[in-house]
Amino acid sequence: MMNTFREMVNHCIRIGLESNVSTLRRFSSTFYHELDCYHIQSKYKLTAISQACGRLSQMKRSIKKGNRSRSPFVRRPFLVSCYGFKINGMMLSFPVANREFFNIVLNGHAVQKLSEKGVELRSFTINPDSLSLSVRKEVQEIIPKNVIGIDRNLRNVTMSTPASSIMYKTNKLLSIKENSQFVRASFRRNDLRVRNGFFTQRKNRQSRRVQQYLHKISKDIVNKAKESESMIVLEEIKGIRKLYRKGNGQGRKYRRRLNSWSFYELQRQIQYKAAWEGIPVQFVDPKRTSQLCPICGERIQEDRFQHRKLWCNNCGRSMDRDVVASMNIAHKGWSRFCHPRGLSVEVMKGNSDNLIPIILGVDGSKLVSV
Ligand SMILES: [Zn+2]
Repeated sequence: MMNTFREMVNHCIRIGLESNVSTLRRFSSTFYHELDCYHIQSKYKLTAISQACGRLSQMKRSIKKGNRSRSPFVRRPFLVSCYGFKINGMMLSFPVANREFFNIVLNGHAVQKLSEKGVELRSFTINPDSLSLSVRKEVQEIIPKNVIGIDRNLRNVTMSTPASSIMYKTNKLLSIKENSQFVRASFRRNDLRVRNGFFTQRKNRQSRRVQQYLHKISKDIVNKAKESESMIVLEEIKGIRKLYRKGNGQGRKYRRRLNSWSFYELQRQIQYKAAWEGIPVQFVDPKRTSQLCPICGERIQEDRFQHRKLWCNNCGRSMDRDVVASMNIAHKGWSRFCHPRGLSVEVMKGNSDNLIPIILGVDGSKLVSV
């Protein structure tokens, strides 16, 4: 049945390419009868058409962007459906023929997730070796009581709440990337095919390791936000890659390190995890976040005696520069999105609590994952 489905999808793609149709509506009204030769229930024909249309429009999009694109073709047998299936206790059962059902036993984790409140199963996809279920969850966005500011740096990710700051060390990420680079550079064989294979394998391994590391951090951040009913504020980093280009007066190694930092990946993870919990995520302009004192609002200077510290003349204190940045981001976010006065308050003067928050250092790799 999976093979039939795959053939149907490829058939639809062929028709779509020939007739240049990639919208679901037009396709199903014009070419539905072309699938008459397949002996399969009609609901699967509809999903096959929608699968093919998805692939075709993806191809169109990438051509529009200017990328070279091959015409889509499905190699592996698979089956997708969003009609006529149901969950019976631990089983997923879907129809294969008239009044004939096929059952798949789900594992405990899937059953538990499906039984959570507000979760609704929408569709399933089967490959010869895997089953994936896609679900929808109704979440209500929380009304934030606090703000968590997050500052992303090369060697740490700093999170600030009104009570405390946590610094997640990310030195490990740098070493993962450097090791991977070193291994790739040591490849000596003069064979393009083998080299490409080796490089892809190494690159994939590197990105898997980095992703997994960032998952721990983003999970912890979202959990903390959920516990304290806070909203998450990040700095908007657009054009960061333009800052570190050849001819900007930085060294090669430094540029490589900064350009390989996965700023966006962490943001992506935080965004989707927060959306799942109904936590709002907002962005603020990072301008001047490490130039003003988060306590009194005065301008602060580089500390001449300590590396990466800032000195406030007014308070007579030296503070960590990343903590200052994340606190300022939190303040900005608070005055911009939560404060009743709204946009008019941009500077954080008048923040009355005169306490420097406790700074907790956390090694990203040692976070407990449940
Ligand atoms: Zn100050």
